[in-house]
Amino acid sequence: MLPDTAFMEKVEALRRLYNRPMPVTSAARCPAHNAKVSSTGTTGPHTTGRAIDIGVRGADALDLVRVALSLGGFTGIGVSQKGSARFIHFDDLPRKAIWSY
Ligand SMILES: [Zn+2]
Repeated sequence: MLPDTAFMEKVEALRRLYNRPMPVTSAARCPAHNAKVSSTGTTGPHTTGRAIDIGVRGADALDLVRVALSLGGFTGIGVSQKGSARFIHFDDLPRKAIWSY
């Protein structure tokens, strides 16, 4: 699975507005890998090429979410802000959702 071009254009617009490092901790995944690392099994958002996880925390995480909401176009936001592997998930699947891990 390759990243979806239209989705990556949204990510690039987010990167330009945010204007700080956006370390990618996960992006497009094949179904087999997704099943190993996610509770969504072989069909989660990352298998569509329309999802990305950004390794940010604290004030950076809050600012990144603020910029993403102001930009629009992201319909799924997952917040993982516990422990050492903190990240924010973004996708643009046809739904509206925000969740924590
Ligand atoms: Zn994710």
